Amino acid sequence: MAIAKPADSYRHQGLRKLLVQNIRAKGISDVQVLAALETVPRHFFFDSSFLEYAYEDKPFPIGAGQTISQPYTVAFQTELLQIRRNDKVLEIGTGSGYQACILAELGAKVFSVERQKTLFDRTSKFLPVVGYPSIKTFFGDGYKGLPAYAPFDKMIVTAAAPYVPDALLDQLKPGGILVIPVGANEVQIMTTFTKNPDNTFAKKEYGAFRFVPMLEDKAKEL
Ligand code: SAH
Repeated sequence: MAIAKPADSYRHQGLRKLLVQNIRAKGISDVQVLAALETVPRHFFFDSSFLEYAYEDKPFPIGAGQTISQPYTVAFQTELLQIRRNDKVLEIGTGSGYQACILAELGAKVFSVERQKTLFDRTSKFLPVVGYPSIKTFFGDGYKGLPAYAPFDKMIVTAAAPYVPDALLDQLKPGGILVIPVGANEVQIMTTFTKNPDNTFAKKEYGAFRFVPMLEDKAKEL
């Protein structure tokens, strides 16, 4: 059965403007990131019974025990990535596909990996329907990165990483940036690793966030 594209409306656009004002007030200043959040209809990524939650600045369950990240967190991670048009970006944790669309909206070439088969299937079919056919999705284990498509200009991990996978660091270009929430417990520290020309890394930390765990066993048919 073909999937229909959900409808956008003036009411939803108005709610998006308010959400963006709210996120700006919380400290996000990159105008392109804010514009991308205003453009991508977050309610497309919600079941129709929950549409009214789409423009609150909160995470929300998307099925299979996973969540769509809080809009502020999406904006924060995206700002740290400093996306330039045509950057090759690897996302770990496709989930609903919302973050991937924000990156595509900024002109990135997005490669996104998801380990849950149900989410992978659903989101892979959905992204072309909502106007993002260029996003490439992969069913696999994000701890391994995506060696066949490496190296990447930027990488974003959208699940809680108990440690920083070596494969990701290896697959980053010199000058590239990895944005990753690191921590095995309830709270993770948002961290960036920027690769120096001599393949060493500059690490910076940005405070506490909460993510669903990045699971380590092999990709599963869940
Ligand atoms: N970026 C998503 C939010 C995803 S929540 C969005 O915009 O909606 C985190 C996602 O990471 C979940 O979908 C989860 O299944 C996935 N995940 C967890 N461990 C993973 C792993 N090892 N490799 C790839 N994806 C993983």
